[in-house]
Amino acid sequence: MPEKFDVAVVGGGPAGLAAAYVMGQAGLNVIVLERGEYPGAKNVSGAVLYSQATNAVFPEFWQEAPLERPLVEQNLWITTEDAVVKMGYRNRTFNEEPYNNFSVLRAKFDRWMGKKVEEIGVVLVCETTVEDLLMKDNRVIGVKTGRPEGEVLANVVVLAEGCNSILTQEKLGFKKRHAWDQLAVAVKEIIALPKEKIEDRFGLEPGQGATIELVGWNTKNMIGTGFIYTNKESLSVGVGALMSQMIDRKVNPNDLLEHMKSHPAVKPLIEGGELKEYEAKLIPEGGYHAVPRLYGDGVVIVGDAAMLVNGLHREGANLAMTSGKVAAEVIVEAHKAGDYSAGFLKKYHERLNDTFVLKDLHKYRNANQFFDHNPQFFQTYPEMLSRAAKEFLTVDSIPKKEKQRKIYRLVKEMRSPIQIGKDMLGFWRTLG
Ligand SMILES: Cc1cc2nc3c(=O)[nH]c(=O)nc-3n(C[C@H](O)[C@H](O)[C@H](O)COP(=O)(O)OP(=O)(O)OC[C@H]3O[C@@H](n4cnc5c(N)ncnc54)[C@H](O)[C@@H]3O)c2cc1C
Repeated sequence: MPEKFDVAVVGGGPAGLAAAYVMGQAGLNVIVLERGEYPGAKNVSGAVLYSQATNAVFPEFWQEAPLERPLVEQNLWITTEDAVVKMGYRNRTFNEEPYNNFSVLRAKFDRWMGKKVEEIGVVLVCETTVEDLLMKDNRVIGVKTGRPEGEVLANVVVLAEGCNSILTQEKLGFKKRHAWDQLAVAVKEIIALPKEKIEDRFGLEPGQGATIELVGWNTKNMIGTGFIYTNKESLSVGVGALMSQMIDRKVNPNDLLEHMKSHPAVKPLIEGGELKEYEAKLIPEGGYHAVPRLYGDGVVIVGDAAMLVNGLHREGANLAMTSGKVAAEVIVEAHKAGDYSAGFLKKYHERLNDTFVLKDLHKYRNANQFFDHNPQFFQTYPEMLSRAAKEFLTVDSIPKKEKQRKIYRLVKEMRSPIQIGKDMLGFWRTLG
């Protein structure tokens, strides 16, 4: 006889572990099945961890979780081949409780979450891949793992399997296979550097951290971003772009990372560092229109498996944890009511609609299409900004009035004022 649990969670990432923790605390009998050697062993995320969503599940996690640095400064770099236009914001209160966000190494952080769920009695089984869903009369009644006699029965299955959501897509049929323009492919390196060097290069106080997001030349002007995050004694350096554009332009992800690392503003930050890890992963960036059905009879979908990623703000783990928590709360109620039907579990979708998770995705629902049809945002505008700044800042005895005219002419040559006006209006309508 297969073992029976109240809930079986597929995947020990932030979504699955947050859900398991909330349900375990409510006294449900929960099993988490994770294919990696331990939670986080297969995770590649940057990674910025957002405190508010984490704190909502693991109160005051910063007292004990393995964190790298509280992030006091965030930067956006708009790059061209030779130059960079920098924007940034630093606030020392980001280094105070309850903190805004932290850099983390997910292999360590997810493992800690795994320990937390085990402490409250959740059964965490690693090195176990769920290969299929067990169905009866069109309802999910459990999972089949790759282990001999590895069937697990459950009243509800939480699919928290991440981006490559084979069970959600193929076994449950809740969505078609991801289209290439709904996925970003990201590659990342962990580059070891002494902490003093990191603090010196990024202008940080001991223990504090910073992030840099890069757009423009560093992604070969494709829709995507690069990133550099400071850890305690390493940097996470990565770049990602839409899979469809990578394929069309025949760009190799590894070459893209080397390209980004060769930029004159990036090179000095990583110089002398020792390469520790190299990883590649997909990010589900289909947005609101690509969110699948989120519940069925005996099943809910959370986190990346449900396309809950806000690519514009590089938020994913917080959406994963929030969706896991909301789903878990509904399952606890379903358990009390003894009703695991889609009719009951749809409360999960209804409540998620009231959170920032679906509100934000809805707000940016047309962003992908907008940027796809307006490549000038990743191509023309970075170049335009850089050339205008260069002209403005070059001291060459040209009177300022003439310089301003020159800048205006330069801008006009690259994009007409009417086009710029239309672009800004479109940008505002889509993202404002
Ligand atoms: C390069 C990169 C940078 C990123 N940077 C950030 C960032 O800075 N901040 C941020 O918030 N988000 C970031 N993200 C997104 C973030 O990683 C995800 O949104 C988040 O991890 C989603 O959590 P999840 O639990 O839904 O999925 P995952 O974290 O992917 O976890 C899914 C888990 O399920 C397991 N699994 C999958 N299939 C099975 C199966 N069949 N059986 C058993 N186990 C299975 C996997 O091994 C994995 O552990 C980044 C992503 C990438 C790729």
